[in-house]
Amino acid sequence: MKISKFQLNNYVLMGSKTDSNKKGTPFKGSAFLSAVEPKRENFVSLYDKQANGKLLFQGINCSTGHFELKKIVDLECSCCGQRMIPLDVVKELAAKTEHKKGEELAHRMKLMKKYFRPIEESVALEIADKARNNPNLSISQIVKELNEENIENLESQQKLVMDEIRETISKFPKNDQGKLFNFVNRSENLIELKNDEKFFKRKKFLWALKQLLETIEDTPLKDELIKIAEALPNSESSVSAFYAKYSRRGNNEIVRRLLTPAIATAEHIKPRSLGGLDNTANYIAECGTCNSNRSSMPYNEWFKQMPQMPENLQDYINNIAPRIERGEYPGYETYIDDIIESIKEETEGKLVLKNPLKK
Ligand SMILES: [Zn+2]
Repeated sequence: MKISKFQLNNYVLMGSKTDSNKKGTPFKGSAFLSAVEPKRENFVSLYDKQANGKLLFQGINCSTGHFELKKIVDLECSCCGQRMIPLDVVKELAAKTEHKKGEELAHRMKLMKKYFRPIEESVALEIADKARNNPNLSISQIVKELNEENIENLESQQKLVMDEIRETISKFPKNDQGKLFNFVNRSENLIELKNDEKFFKRKKFLWALKQLLETIEDTPLKDELIKIAEALPNSESSVSAFYAKYSRRGNNEIVRRLLTPAIATAEHIKPRSLGGLDNTANYIAECGTCNSNRSSMPYNEWFKQMPQMPENLQDYINNIAPRIERGEYPGYETYIDDIIESIKEETEGKLVLKNPLKK
């Protein structure tokens, strides 16, 4: 039996922990089988490929945390094409920025601009403006002031959604309307309270609304109501909601949050929940925003929702391939062919990318 690099890695990584569980095996080399046995379901596709005389996954078995390619500075997201930032660099930038004030703080915001997504960019611009005019204020003091200036704005955004919620509740059966209206009124009081201890929280509201709807007989109006409520502003969709949420946080946390949507993550091409492997052959570097938007959606569906993805994936491959060829990532020699194969398989042959090193 040909032992691929994948199998060897697997044996080296897991063998010592599991040797005591050795069992009889139809394969030669019981050590190898005992090594994979604890996670046998993850290896079904590997065995299938072997059976067909074709072994796709040759990558390195590793956790997402050890995926080296997400540590490349300024790599573009394989999905949305926007610039990404490694987690270590986020920590560095936050440490360099957290105690800055005035012009220096404004300058730091400008330096990080290339990583900001639209909401974060607006926030950073306002922080920079305020820092220039108030050279003694720290970042968290600035955000606190911006929150006070924007709170009315946030309230009106929230109330618009609450009005829509009320309108939908009035379409529910009469019996159910009372408790739903009560709940919405109580929540709206929290919006108006402007109290440091008691304040409206979107997440809590959505959770409680879903709980309340559980007690009501099924109607399509329930889904409609939840969809409307989910439009309540949050720190990802509204500058005012950003200020409200981060007005109680420290300098370092605020800077890190501004960079978070751009953090490079290792995305499973085939989601773990659908049997995807923790292996570099199943990883691509993707920004935090795309990763969280996709969640565990099958790649085939995700790729239909992101029309620019084929081009961005090819750019990602074109960017990575020469680095691997130059020997910058030992162990990743088969990476490009591996992910081309994984993507092809996950998109049922619809997306076939090219390895630029193969003419
Ligand atoms: Zn992205």
